[in-house]
Amino acid sequence: MIKQIDHIGIAVNNMGEGVQLFNAILDSIPFHKEEIVSQKLIATFYEIGNTKIELLEPTSTDSAISKFLLNKGPGIHHVAFLVDNIHSEMQRMKSEGFKALSEEPYIGALGKLVCFFHPKTTGGSLIELCQKK
Ligand code: ZN
Repeated sequence: MIKQIDHIGIAVNNMGEGVQLFNAILDSIPFHKEEIVSQKLIATFYEIGNTKIELLEPTSTDSAISKFLLNKGPGIHHVAFLVDNIHSEMQRMKSEGFKALSEEPYIGALGKLVCFFHPKTTGGSLIELCQKK
């Protein structure tokens, strides 16, 4: 079951500039920053009520975030939904015809289990499912 929006992911060219911008927009400061080596990115999180903003900066030119920035420029990259059982939600979405970007969920930011669905199958929005560990 999808429970709520966990976070919105926003691609930035430069994390220092992104943090400065979102500190001003949100009148807040990030509570967490981590490098996700497997995805070649750095993620910085703000907590807003019971949801979050995730800023994403690529650490390599072959990162998916680099490709996104080249094609679309900085801005909203994905919407993440919190689920209670990522395996059953992946199965449900696959059975609806949505294409997962990985066969199995993997460990993403904040230690959550995550998986993504291809925007070509979801009307243009990259969708992330995530489950607390
Ligand atoms: Zn995310």
